[in-house]
Amino acid sequence: MSEMKDILTGLDRYEEFLGKLQVEINKMEDYRIAIVYTDIKHFKYINDTYGYKRGDTLLKEFVEMVTGNNDYMLCAARVYSDNIVMAARLEECVGNEEFRKLIRERNLELENNFRERYMSARLKFCTGISIISKEDRRLDPATAVSNANLARKVAKEMDEDCCVLFDNTMLEGIKKEVEITSSVSTAIEKGEFKVYYQPKMETNTLKIIGAEALIRWQKADGSFIYPDEFIPLVERSGQIVELDYFVYREVFHFIARRLQEGKTIVPISVNVSRAHLNKMGILPYVRSLFEKYQIPPELVEFELTESIYIKNTTRALELIEGLHEMGTKVSMDDFGSGYSSLNLLSKLPIDIIKLDKVFLQDCDSKHNIRENDKIIISCVIDMAKKLQITSLCEGVETIEQSDYLSQIGCEIQQGYYFSKPIPQAEFESFMDENYRVKNMSY
Ligand code: C2E
Ligand code: CA
Ligand code: CA
Repeated sequence: MSEMKDILTGLDRYEEFLGKLQVEINKMEDYRIAIVYTDIKHFKYINDTYGYKRGDTLLKEFVEMVTGNNDYMLCAARVYSDNIVMAARLEECVGNEEFRKLIRERNLELENNFRERYMSARLKFCTGISIISKEDRRLDPATAVSNANLARKVAKEMDEDCCVLFDNTMLEGIKKEVEITSSVSTAIEKGEFKVYYQPKMETNTLKIIGAEALIRWQKADGSFIYPDEFIPLVERSGQIVELDYFVYREVFHFIARRLQEGKTIVPISVNVSRAHLNKMGILPYVRSLFEKYQIPPELVEFELTESIYIKNTTRALELIEGLHEMGTKVSMDDFGSGYSSLNLLSKLPIDIIKLDKVFLQDCDSKHNIRENDKIIISCVIDMAKKLQITSLCEGVETIEQSDYLSQIGCEIQQGYYFSKPIPQAEFESFMDENYRVKNMSY
């Protein structure tokens, strides 16, 4: 076999493919060219479960099914691993959407076929398609493939559809992502990130007993970028680790200052992104902060989101144990928001369970919590009590919700009803005021 071919699949190598595609584009006349970029989701699972040999066989079969007896195919290549790209001739009479549906049908057929034989319910084919029309003749082949690949990534994130057509708005999303991720480091240096604090209230006394540190990004022009917008992006790029460390430094510094000034302070919790599981530098980092600032470990708590535990239970356990060794508490954040597994609660030595705000968001017009949600909340709180885990509800927005939570014995509450996340100075006043008022009445 020539060196121009991929040994395993017999397809062209990627560079060769780009050359052929350029030739095809040059001679394109009364038809369009569709770039079809496919990747097998959970292919790694096949390799891990059945071994690489079976993985290779599956890949070869996949290529044959995709490229075999296909009159409209112009050329195809393996880009890398299980990523296959092909160029197909698209006649005038076939619409873009029609073609997408065709490929989608074929993907589903392939999935069924493979699922039966490999007994893997998880296997899924994800395809992105970009169309080169006569007007796009000057588009270079690599860009056309990268557009299809972008659409494929979008497809991979969707549960329902496995096949997505590229459109230009996807490039805007990428542009924004690049804009955000490329400015994070300088934004830290420029002081554009600030830590806000949201009080946590003890249900029995309605006194402040803690706070959560939440990051805010305020650009030089005064506008805010909210965490929901940038956290997922910097999580993907790995920069969240740097950002979390920034928050930890600020919080340690803040607590140390309050103590030095002889002022009251409550335990402050910080968020731990799941990205920390990859490198685990977080434990030595936190340890170094405790050495530097010499504050009591009870004053810092760590919130790990539920999905961290699902991703890698062993590492999560290591992390919790490491934090416990330093004397800090750990909470399970966003409990109930995803695929929470109740038995994780008994397996993992967590101290606090934070019920996700979704349970309170679905209220009726009189701010009453829905009956079904009430059942779930009260059961989780009962269970936490029996497991000797502290219960906290987040997203408390109304007095009705707060009253209900105290009725069923939820120990701590957090939400807009008490306070939104506020800047440090404002939070200090809140703490002082709350202490003063409450101490007078008790
Ligand atoms: P989270 O950890 O679940 O934080 C709680 C979010 O709920 C915060 O949103 C808070 O402002 C919001 N919230 C609090 N009370 C209420 C309420 O009564 N009603 C409603 N509707 N919302 C309420 P925020 O600050 O926008 O943060 C969003 C998410 O971004 C956080 O969710 C957390 O996952 C992430 N995040 C924020 N700061 C950090 C950070 O420093 N590090 C990491 N790794 N993630 C962070
Ligand atoms: Ca949190
Ligand atoms: Ca949460």
